[in-house]
This record gives sequence, C-alpha cells and structure tokens, in this order.
Amino acid sequence: MNFVAAQGMVLGATAYSEADKIVQLYTLQLGRVRAIVKGIRKPKSKLASSIDLFTESTFSLHKKASGSLYVLGQAKILNGYADLKKEFLQITTLQVLAEMVSQATPEGEPHSEIYVLLKETLGALEKEPKSNELLLMAFALKLMEFLGYPLELEICAECGETLEKKKVYLIPHRGGALCELCQGSGSVRFQVTPMGLEVLKKLRRTLVNRVHVLKLKPHFSRQLLFTVIGYLERTFEKSFKTLEYYSKVLPLERE
Ligand SMILES: [Zn+2]
Repeated sequence: MNFVAAQGMVLGATAYSEADKIVQLYTLQLGRVRAIVKGIRKPKSKLASSIDLFTESTFSLHKKASGSLYVLGQAKILNGYADLKKEFLQITTLQVLAEMVSQATPEGEPHSEIYVLLKETLGALEKEPKSNELLLMAFALKLMEFLGYPLELEICAECGETLEKKKVYLIPHRGGALCELCQGSGSVRFQVTPMGLEVLKKLRRTLVNRVHVLKLKPHFSRQLLFTVIGYLERTFEKSFKTLEYYSKVLPLERE
C-alpha cells in the first residue's frame, strides 16, 4: 500500500455501490485522481461535507501498487467555499469549471500552476460573481496554455499576417486563429469578431482577480464563452454536458 497526504479540491462524486462513492479530486501533488470513499452514503458519515463540489481539504489517500483508484481515508477541510454554494449562478459556474478541469487535465499528472489558478479563480468568483463568464473564459484560456495548447491569437497560423482588427476563425486543430483568407473549409471553426479577439487576448494576459474590470454585453459574453468552451471541447475531443444545462438554467434576457 502507498499512503499519501494530498491537498485537493473535489470535482465531483458519483455513487459506486450501496454505501460508497467515487470522487474525482484535483490535487496539488498528484493532479487529477479518482478515489473511492467507503461508507459515505451511510447516514452520519464523517466525510460527507468534505466531498462537496470544490471543497478544499487535505486528503489521506492510499492505493495498491496496481490500479489507478485511490481509497480516501480521511479528510481535513481547509476551505469549504460556502459563499460560492448559495447562489444558483455560482453553483452552475462551479459545475462548468469542474467539468473543464475533469475533461481537459490528464489523470495523475500534477500541475501546481493549474491548482493555483483554480484557487485564484474561486477567490475571484467569490468577490465578483457577476463576472462569472469572464472568469470561466480566462480560466479556459490559461488552462490550455498550462497544458501545452496555447491559442495563437496574434498572427494567422497560416500566412503569419497580424490578426489585429480582423474577423478571425479559431480552428482547434491549427492551435489558434486564422485570418478570413486562410480559413479554408472543412475543419471545425469558430468565428470571432475583432472585438471578441481583443477580449480573448486581454483575458489571457490579465490576472483572474482583475478580469472583472472588463464589461461585456450579456449576449456577446455568452457567445464568446461558448466559443471558448467549444474550442476547448474540440481540442481535447470531449463534449461538455454542463453547457446545455448552463443555457437552460441561466437564460439570457432580451437586450
Ligand atoms: Zn492568414
């Protein structure tokens, strides 16, 4: 048996058997891992509150030499992020954030910079809940960069011309934006306006706790968010279940 104490946050939990659950954690030391929590579905389980979405704890984990599933023994809560779990807007935002991390990060590969980014994003969301879409976009752009898939947004990936003030097309398998002349046809593309491109560039270089200074109109913000997540989905060849849910539970008002 290998024992390890890891600081981590909960990305989700699913029922496993009558009494157990499997939780997905993003940890500082081990990256994304899955762990079985025994007896958690029984009343009075001591671990129940520590497996809430994004609750940060120090977890005692152990596993056999073979297999990828850990067993979660104990948890000591460091931060429950209780304020983020009161409003529907924030809860839904947390769900999208959790899906991004669980779909894009490889299992068992630590990235301390992603862990830090997650904590900063949660902190910023607590302070600026209405900037949730900006925060999700900034998180996605920075996440892709940390995972080795930075988006090219300055020059066309085909002709090398500057993209400044141009309508561009984000093409996942080309690693970023192409100009209108080079976009070709056939592959999946996401059209972005010159203003959208400027916002994405700003979001990528701005610290998450400062992104709220940008103010976007609701429809523009929503469209750009779906573009960024669509690009992320295609880059990692995953589909995000939370997006449809997000539009359903947080409909846009008419402008
Ligand atoms: Zn071009």
